[in-house]
Amino acid sequence: MLLFTPGPTPTPEFMRMAMGEPTIHHRTSEFESLFAKAREGLKQMLKMPEVLMLASSGSGAMEACVTSLCAKKLLSVNSGKFGERFGKIAKAFNIPLIEIKNEWDTPVSVESILEVLKENPDIDAICMQVCESAGGLRHPYEEIAKVIKAHNSKIMVIIDSITAMGVEPLEVSCVDALIGGSQKAFMLPPGMSIIGLSDEAVKKIEERNIGFYFNLKTELKNQVKNTTAWTAPTTIIIGLCAFLQKFQEKGAETFYAQTRARSLATNEAMEGIGLKIYPKVPALAMTTIFNELSEDLRKILKNNFGVNVAGGQDNLKGKIFRINHMGLIALNEIAWVVNAVELSLEILGIRKFDGRANQIFLEKYYKIIG
Ligand SMILES: *Cc1c(COP(=O)(O)O)cnc(C)c1O
Repeated sequence: MLLFTPGPTPTPEFMRMAMGEPTIHHRTSEFESLFAKAREGLKQMLKMPEVLMLASSGSGAMEACVTSLCAKKLLSVNSGKFGERFGKIAKAFNIPLIEIKNEWDTPVSVESILEVLKENPDIDAICMQVCESAGGLRHPYEEIAKVIKAHNSKIMVIIDSITAMGVEPLEVSCVDALIGGSQKAFMLPPGMSIIGLSDEAVKKIEERNIGFYFNLKTELKNQVKNTTAWTAPTTIIIGLCAFLQKFQEKGAETFYAQTRARSLATNEAMEGIGLKIYPKVPALAMTTIFNELSEDLRKILKNNFGVNVAGGQDNLKGKIFRINHMGLIALNEIAWVVNAVELSLEILGIRKFDGRANQIFLEKYYKIIG
């Protein structure tokens, strides 16, 4: 079965082999040197001055960033399940919250953010996604982060880039916390989150010194010494070192260019066989198709062609399907997925198969990749 869900993503063999070594103890110089390598690799990759790794899924890092960086009032962008989650975190901690809600296919506008900021001078942090995975939507986070900092440089900008980190080069000059998760483009098993931090965020974390398990001050104190406050997810960090080595060897540019070409070529191929891309601005991490027959399509993809793609949640349940582009993906595998979608349309009696999807995909892919 080909796993083509936008998280978890399949773990490649070279990383599974690295993680297949006997378990090592986390309070050893052996592990500390691996941890140091992971820290350095991540700092280089994210281009941020500080980085933390936590033993939690992505949501743990989201919670830690909200509690550590917001003291007064949070502005949260909600265009889907993950944007909604920041709001739920604020409510769970009794943090005053303002939400900007949009349809799941619609990116937040810079104007709407500025308007809320002007009306609420007590907002001290904003949260948003780069890619809102619920609908595969790309928010213009770079532009928004810049406008926020120009308005008030003290506002902490918290960016959930869980489905963008390792997908595209991320502009971080106006970002204070950049959140990632192991099970997306890093192709690691679920269970570790990553936070890139600005110098200002580090200061704020030290001032606030809040929480226990997710106390980022405690983590910072330990992680600058290449150890962790609690037992580290040692095996995942060993896998991360293997990933970072591959990422450096391949070169970030090549890695990102291949993801981009796969994503754009897939979108075009899907449109070429009459399918509709759901978000108004698609993120590169996934191709999201709006179709009332999504559930039938997913069943055929799985049972007839051995392809597992994701469906939708809540109001999009049964209405969309999502094809992953994160991580290292063999061209023959994504080409097969594109082909399988076209074959499925014929089985559903929607469109006669003529190989058009694959033709468009390959033409477009090689045109982009050059
Ligand atoms: C996957 C994902 C998360 C994290 O979810 P966890 O299940 O806690 O790992 C957060 N934000 C986005 C945009 C995601 O795609």
